Amino acid sequence: MTSPKEDGVLSELQMSPDQMLDLARRAAELVVQRIHELPGEAAWRGGSRSELEPLMREDPPEEGRPAMEVLERAAREILPVAGRVDHPRFFAFVPSSPTWPGVLADFMAAGHNIFQGTWLGASGPSQLEVVVLDWFRDWIGYPETAGGLFTSGGSAASLDGFVAAREAAGHPERATVYMSDQSHTALSRAATIVGIRPHCVREVKSDAQFRMDMAELRRMIAEDRAAGFSPIAICANAGTTNTGAVDPLADIADYCEAEGIWLHVDAAYGGFAILTDTGKALFRGLERADSIAMDAHKWLFQPFEAGCLMVKDVRKLEEAFSVHPEYLQDTQWGTDHPNFGDRGLQLSRSFRALKVWMSIQTFGMAAFRRAVGNGIELAAQADAYIRASTTIQIANPASLGIVCFRVNPVDMDVDVETLERVNKAVQARIIGENVAMMSSTRLRGLYSLRLCILNHTTTWTDVRETLETIERFGREALEG
Ligand SMILES: *Cc1c(COP(=O)(O)O)cnc(C)c1O
Repeated sequence: MTSPKEDGVLSELQMSPDQMLDLARRAAELVVQRIHELPGEAAWRGGSRSELEPLMREDPPEEGRPAMEVLERAAREILPVAGRVDHPRFFAFVPSSPTWPGVLADFMAAGHNIFQGTWLGASGPSQLEVVVLDWFRDWIGYPETAGGLFTSGGSAASLDGFVAAREAAGHPERATVYMSDQSHTALSRAATIVGIRPHCVREVKSDAQFRMDMAELRRMIAEDRAAGFSPIAICANAGTTNTGAVDPLADIADYCEAEGIWLHVDAAYGGFAILTDTGKALFRGLERADSIAMDAHKWLFQPFEAGCLMVKDVRKLEEAFSVHPEYLQDTQWGTDHPNFGDRGLQLSRSFRALKVWMSIQTFGMAAFRRAVGNGIELAAQADAYIRASTTIQIANPASLGIVCFRVNPVDMDVDVETLERVNKAVQARIIGENVAMMSSTRLRGLYSLRLCILNHTTTWTDVRETLETIERFGREALEG
């Protein structure tokens, strides 16, 4: 028999303040040490299931163990066996390099156990989420009617955006959505989740610069309308994951306005480039989108998870999502007091806006602008370096921190198959010999290496040494 907790004694799941502090200090020490030593470590570590099973497989213990031992084990055996996405030479996929105040904000939000689903549940945090979203609104150039919410990431943000688009269109029977062949697969998946039939998720081909082909878009929509389909959304990219391409946003906005179709922009990785002059120029027309997905855990230097959906008329988001069950009847404080649970999928939500707020308060906008600019600038420098090289060749010009290239010496005549084999071997050696973490892609079917440089701690030395080593490995692979 279990007897209920007695007055004045800690529950079996509580700790004394001294013990809590000891553990928190040790946890902080371990994380600070990890971050401090990161540049000298490999940019990636991983392990196969068969390697990791014996280390971690066990039944949950019936009796607890010393907390310090558990903490040390997590820090030694589990957490390091992962990509170090914040390593200055982690150039793969889309890197993320959080600031320390952002990391602490997640700890603070968890420690205060904020339930950010209703205004009643978290008034201060809800007010702050409104404030931070209004910062984003102003950066985008959105009107005062705009609003949004923080989400787990870009996938969730686009999913919520599609629900709003579908409802705004009156949830038609034969709905279609349009995205370019460069769009992130998160978007086709989101479309599928909101009930768009797979054959109604239309892939528009991209042009030579990997931008959505407008003529093709017009043709497809005219055809679909004639065949009785109802286009409910066009998704444009403000930074594709492959090459950093930006679709012709202003042209697509014109077209969407004329046709009465919702414009959703996937700016998950690229969006915060809006803080720089380069980004502002590239994103002309962004402010005309009906909804925009952006990831603060990518180019706004926050820890996972920090996605965001912004909607030009936030009422459309609330119309799509708000629910009023009797058990939440006490939470209606009126339109000035948003219940963020009424703007998306999640009711129980963590307080993600705090990390953005704490880090921007601490470092200031000027530092953030320069940090975003660092990535754009380094990718441009890499582009110039590659163009001057006789061993590597540009596959696509630098855009928004991404540059694609391949080993292809000017003085050698190498067939496509050999090039693919050599480039794959070079990539494997770069990772295997702990030079950097780098991923690859295919551009028009051709294998390409790719650097995505978004980290505020990355320097030109990191990029240059990586490129020099790629050149050397490439020569060795071809000549050796
Ligand atoms: C990362 C990314 C996504 C997916 O966002 P998550 O935060 O991983 O859910 C979607 N689109 C683009 C362009 C991205 O870079």
